[in-house]
Amino acid sequence: MLTDYHVHLRPDGENTPAAEYFTEANAERYRETAADRGIQELGVAEHIYRFTAALDVWQHPLWVENAHDDIDRYCEFVRERTDLKLGIEADFIPGKDDRMRSLLEARDWDYVVGSIHFLAEGALDYDRFDVWNSARSADHVWKTYFTWLGELAASGLFDIMAHPDLVKHWGKERPWPDKDLRFYYDLAMEQIAESGIAIELSTAGLRKPVGEIYPDRAFLEMVVDAGNPIALSSDAHTPEQLGFEYEQAMELLSDVGVTEIAVFENRSVTLEPIGPS
Ligand SMILES: [Zn+2]
Ligand SMILES: [Zn+2]
Repeated sequence: MLTDYHVHLRPDGENTPAAEYFTEANAERYRETAADRGIQELGVAEHIYRFTAALDVWQHPLWVENAHDDIDRYCEFVRERTDLKLGIEADFIPGKDDRMRSLLEARDWDYVVGSIHFLAEGALDYDRFDVWNSARSADHVWKTYFTWLGELAASGLFDIMAHPDLVKHWGKERPWPDKDLRFYYDLAMEQIAESGIAIELSTAGLRKPVGEIYPDRAFLEMVVDAGNPIALSSDAHTPEQLGFEYEQAMELLSDVGVTEIAVFENRSVTLEPIGPS
């Protein structure tokens, strides 16, 4: 079994209206490319901030600019006009978890992917609103990020932890901590272990300035020791990006002793042996 669950039906940004991308023809393009690459379990996880309902949770300027679509029409489209699994990529925003919970629990997802893209107003993977403009030290930014990551796991809002060390997105283009990175991972690890949340192995980092898989091998070893399931995704925003560099991902998983991946349906998880169909 190979999965790609953290998949977007359109690129980020302006000029990607739902009417153009939430179509049977577009879903079919994704399905065909996935089949060519041996990926039989395919699901979508649109960014929650592209839906107007997200503004009930948070009003970050980026969300206000991007919230145009109706979340229930998205769910209806995926369920009724495609054979894809239905997911969503939702942000963990401390202090807003009650509102996020109401939004998420009102819909019948196959899985919810939980992300941290912002530390307060500062963005981790976007040069507008860049968190690094705050002049905080790398130590402070990394500590905050991994503390929140533990809270994300403990919140129980999410089935899959997305791109677990996204804080490294810019690589050496931004300040980098001096400490052994396991110091930061440890800040989240107890809550991750207790929650049982599936941890995403995302090849998207290979397309980003850092040029590495998310998460780092040491982080992966820690969650494997803790017994968390592993979910495999590319964070594709186009059909061409599906299953990107999965050979590298499978090699890494095999190196750390992972032989099974997480498969989701109606928010419950089963484990299946890894490999292309
Ligand atoms: Zn993301
Ligand atoms: Zn994503």
